[in-house]
This record gives sequence, C-alpha cells and structure tokens, in this order.
Amino acid sequence: MNKKVSILIPCFNEEEGLPMLYDALCGQSGICEKLKGYDFEILLINDGSRDKTLEAIKHYAGQDARIRYISLSRNFGKECAMLSGFDYASGDCMVIMDADLQHPPTLIPEMLNYWEQGFQDVYAKRKSRGKESWLRRHFSLAYYSLLQKTSRFDILENVGDFRLLDRVCIDALRQMRENERYTKGMFAWIGFKKKEILFEQGDRQTGASSWHFRDLLNLGIDGITSFTTAPLRFSTIVGFFISLVAFIYMCWVLVKAIVWGDPVAGFPSLMVVILFLGGVQLLSLGIIGEYLGRVFNEAKGRPVYLVSETNVEK
Ligand code: UDP
Ligand code: MG
Repeated sequence: MNKKVSILIPCFNEEEGLPMLYDALCGQSGICEKLKGYDFEILLINDGSRDKTLEAIKHYAGQDARIRYISLSRNFGKECAMLSGFDYASGDCMVIMDADLQHPPTLIPEMLNYWEQGFQDVYAKRKSRGKESWLRRHFSLAYYSLLQKTSRFDILENVGDFRLLDRVCIDALRQMRENERYTKGMFAWIGFKKKEILFEQGDRQTGASSWHFRDLLNLGIDGITSFTTAPLRFSTIVGFFISLVAFIYMCWVLVKAIVWGDPVAGFPSLMVVILFLGGVQLLSLGIIGEYLGRVFNEAKGRPVYLVSETNVEK
C-alpha cells in the first residue's frame, strides 16, 4: 500500500491564489501527479476568510477527491489553524506550506526523500530573506539571538513553517493544546530527528501578506513568554543590583549625615532615583503581567479552534 502524505495549507483570504495553488499541486504537471508512489490528501484550512476562499475550496473539493477542507468558525490565526490540521490529518507524514506559493511545492520530493531515510522533521530554511526593511531585518536578528540564548533548545532563524513532519511529530504537536501558540518554538521543543534543507523563498504570487508589524510584535512577545521565563529572571537580577547599589548609597548618606551633618539639598538626585525606580518597578510589573495574562488565558481551558464545516470524516 502507498504511504499517505497530507499537505496542510492554512488559507486566509486566498481566493485569488487558490487556482495557482491547485495547479501546482494537483494540476496535470502538479506535484501530486508526479509522485506516483504516494497517496495525497490536501488539507485546506479556511481560517475565517472574508472573501470567497471557502467557495473556491469547495469547488475544488467537488472535482478532486484528494481535497479535504476544514472551515473554522472565525479567523483564529495561522497557528491555531495549523493545530486543526494536525488533528484532522490522516497521513503518515505531513507537509505544511503557505497558500501563497512562497513555499515551492517542488521541494516536496526532496523532503519525502529525507523522510524515507528516517528523518522525522525535514524543515526548509530560507537562503535569503527577500525584500524587507533594514529595521525589520535587524529587529528579527536581535530577536532570534535573544530567544536562542534564553531557551534550552534551538529556535531557528529563517526557518518558517514550511516542513515535513512524521506522524510521531504530528502526534506530539497535537498534545500541545495551549491557546497562545508559537508553533515555531514547538517544532524545536518536540525534538526528534531533524534535517535542514535550503530554499529560495519567492514573493507572494497574489493578494497581500496579512501580517502587520503589530502582529509580528505580538508573535514575538508570544514566542518569548511561551518558551522562556528569562524576562522574570532578568527583572529579579535587575532588582537585586539596584537594591545593592541603593544599600551602599544609603550607608554613604548615613555616614555623611552623622559625620559631617547634612544641610538639606539633593533634590535632583532624589528625583532621579524615584523616577528610575518607578520605571524599573513598572517594567517588572508589566513582565509579570504578561505571564499572568497567559496563565489566565490558558486557565480558561477553551478549545483552540472551532470548526463550522468540513468534509473530513474523523
Ligand atoms: N494565514 C492564516 N490565518 C491568518 C493569517 C494567515 O491561515 O490569520 C495563512 C495565509 O493564508 C498563508 C499563510 O498563513 O497561507 C502565511 O500567511 P502570509 O503569506 O500572509 O504570511 P507571510 O508569508 O507574509 O509570513
Ligand atoms: Mg506569505
């Protein structure tokens, strides 16, 4: 019997791109036609699209039995959409890719090749980062080096969600039901036998990227708060040093007052200390709040996504 490969594609407002995607995967010279030795299942997740994505998906599902779809009840975000795919996929392995063809399907044969050799997580690393601003580039560089240094496993730069996962990895990821998902960190967290391949990321074929700087910032904070408690440690250490310096300064002030007597002065230094300490305290409170907020969200134990419609029998 052929091995079954699920291809997971989260789609959010991808109406325009779907025909091209369908062609690249299931068209006459599509990848699924070329790879004869495998059965394919294309799992399209409609993540609450506001355009005609669902209609288009259903249209293709009607004409091709390999197309499966799950339509979520609203836009839950790519991370949650991926979890629904992990839950519903039935393949022996899974390839995750974007709907906008920025992840070339032509890489799938190479991934499968490594999978057959026993690798359980074959991830594609971008050779270059394509068009982006200087600020974004340096921001992300600094971010990854921070993540690397503060967590015990490697969260890799330039590696996105484009990868092939063995069934064991999918089952591992399905057990991670947190609501604030940072899948990139999860891939690193689960471990298993990994293999890196390189690819050149193209530009988006149609439509527009749905990420704004604000989303990236949020994802970045999620990444840190869900994978390391380093900021908490950091505020402890800063607090300790400030107390130490304050203590030494206090001794000095006392000695000065006792030995020489102290005419009242020093409004500026008082002001500086108060403002500085106030700032540090607010920062630390904010950090604690970030973590507390996450505990609050997880404590509610809500489902990560809700399905409104699907053609997958579970
Ligand atoms: N996506 C999604 N839900 C969202 C945002 C994006 O499922 O809320 C999907 C989108 O359809 C695409 C993939 O995630 O298949 C990557 O999105 P995009 O191309 O906008 O991100 P970028 O390539 O700029 O990182
Ligand atoms: Mg994209």
